Order: sequence, then structure tokens, then C-alpha cells
Amino acid sequence: MERIEYELIRSPRRTMSVEVDTNGGVLVRAPRFAPRWQIEAFVKERAEWINRARERQAKRLQNLPDIREEDKPYYVKQAKAVLPGKIRRYAACMGVEPAGLTVTSARTRFGSCSGQNRLSFSWRLMAYPEAAIDYVVVHELAHIRYKDHSRAFYAFIESVLPDYKERIRILQGRQEA
Ligand SMILES: [Zn+2]
Repeated sequence: MERIEYELIRSPRRTMSVEVDTNGGVLVRAPRFAPRWQIEAFVKERAEWINRARERQAKRLQNLPDIREEDKPYYVKQAKAVLPGKIRRYAACMGVEPAGLTVTSARTRFGSCSGQNRLSFSWRLMAYPEAAIDYVVVHELAHIRYKDHSRAFYAFIESVLPDYKERIRILQGRQEA
């Protein structure tokens, strides 16, 4: 197996951690005085996980979602890291106020909005490109104002994402929001 390139960040912490960012870059966090061999061993031990995560990101960037049940913890973590910021940003620009966020395992729909304006998103959505994720976020936020799929509902979406139809195409044939 080839050696894994990574960026190392040392800080006053006790344990080591590794993460793969959305571009496939590997980031290792380590205690300030951890010897290099120990860090190398840590990365080597996790090589399989790292390569799998990079593969997932590569497919996501190519718009070929690769959703496996075993990746659920990874995508749930992504969802919790990424969705609150997107919701906050789009809600502010749409002038709507969601009541909360739930990450689900739904297979048949990427997102939903309850009668009480609570938003739910499936962790499976996180395997898709950002353009598609943003569309589902805007779609569910638009339901706070329109509890239907009327023309007015889509006009509201279009005012935020003029290219929303292209974004729908990325998701099509799989699940619906
Ligand atoms: Zn809808």
C-alpha cells in the first residue's frame, strides 16, 4: 500500500485523530510531542478507512454517490457538521425560520419539513454534490412558507437558486425531497 500524504497539526491534546476533508485531503491531529513514528503508525493503521473516505469524496465530486450502510456514521457526522450552517444561511436569505433539525436514515426521501416546520434530512443526501445538498435544504425551507409543491413554491425556490432544475437532475431517479 502506498504511503498516505497528510497534513499534520500538533496541539496540546492527548489523542490523535484523522479526518478526510471534502476534497480528499487528509488531516492528522496529534499531541504536541508525539513522535513521528507513532503518528506514522497511527496513519498506517487507519489506511483502509482513509482510502475509503477519499474514494467516497472522489465519487461525490464526480457526482456518483456511493452510499453504503457501513458509511452511516461518517455521513451522519458530515450532516451534523454541514447542514446547520447551510440552513442558517439559506433561512436568513429566504426570511423563514425552521424549528429544528433532525438527521434521519430515510431511504425514500432526502428531506422533509413537518407541520411545525421541523426539518429532517437523510444522511444519505451527504453522498451527493454540494449543489444537490443545497437544493434539498432550500426545498425544505421553502415548505415553511408553502406546504405544497405549487408554482409559487417553485418560484420561491427559483428566487434563491435560479439553477434549481439542474440541481434536481443530480438527485433524480433516486429519491425525492
Ligand atoms: Zn417537497
